[in-house]
Amino acid sequence: MNVLKIDHIGIAVNHIDEGKSFWSDVLGLHFEGLETVKEQKVTTAFFPVGESEVELLESTEPDGPVAKFIEKKGQGVQHIAFRVENLETALAECKQKGIQLIDEKPRKGAGGAKIAFLHPKSTQGVLVELCER
Ligand code: ZN
Repeated sequence: MNVLKIDHIGIAVNHIDEGKSFWSDVLGLHFEGLETVKEQKVTTAFFPVGESEVELLESTEPDGPVAKFIEKKGQGVQHIAFRVENLETALAECKQKGIQLIDEKPRKGAGGAKIAFLHPKSTQGVLVELCER
């Protein structure tokens, strides 16, 4: 598979507004605006950093994946996203190499990206997102 770069780092926060004050006011990163992805029960805020981005994630529902993550582990880095040239091919290759997939097929992520997650059981505990834009 052809991994092009680290696309973004997803960080779970209780409240994006509180999170913003560090990333935006202290680090001086540009806040690109909010986007809610209903399917994933999450509101996201993107802050570009060079070739990559920081993605803050706030759950919109108490039973959403981000809410569950914070419940278990607290706020913090939730996933790392790699941009790939072709997501279908990358998923097929992961599957063939015995990696457990959370998403067998690409789904819609923030910013119009196609995304899919790999199971942390297969990646030494890191929730890996593959995305194609
Ligand atoms: Zn992400």
